[in-house]
Amino acid sequence: MLHLVVQSDSERIKNLLERGAVKLHIFQPSGRTIWTIVGRDNEHWADIELGFCSCKSYYYITLSNGKLCYHLICIALAKQNNKFVTIKFHDTEYTDFINALLADITSKLLVC
Ligand SMILES: [Zn+2]
Repeated sequence: MLHLVVQSDSERIKNLLERGAVKLHIFQPSGRTIWTIVGRDNEHWADIELGFCSCKSYYYITLSNGKLCYHLICIALAKQNNKFVTIKFHDTEYTDFINALLADITSKLLVC
């Protein structure tokens, strides 16, 4: 049973990597980076260094069980295998970017 779960998860992760769901947003000239991953119904903001993801599983799985949600696993794998899309922005766009991302995340959280 556990094997099946891992199997379907790795299949899901592979599909996400293949379709370029993991994005690295680089802000210049500061070099600040933001990782996002397009999930089934919305885009999640994840930070591997902090071990944070904006998805709901993060609250249920990561915070309570200490396990990584599959977005964080997916981003780690994308990094390792160079399977992510890089998008460059100027630093002046940083605030707008964060605001848009947060607005998107909170609107989805409130709906579900
Ligand atoms: Zn997640």
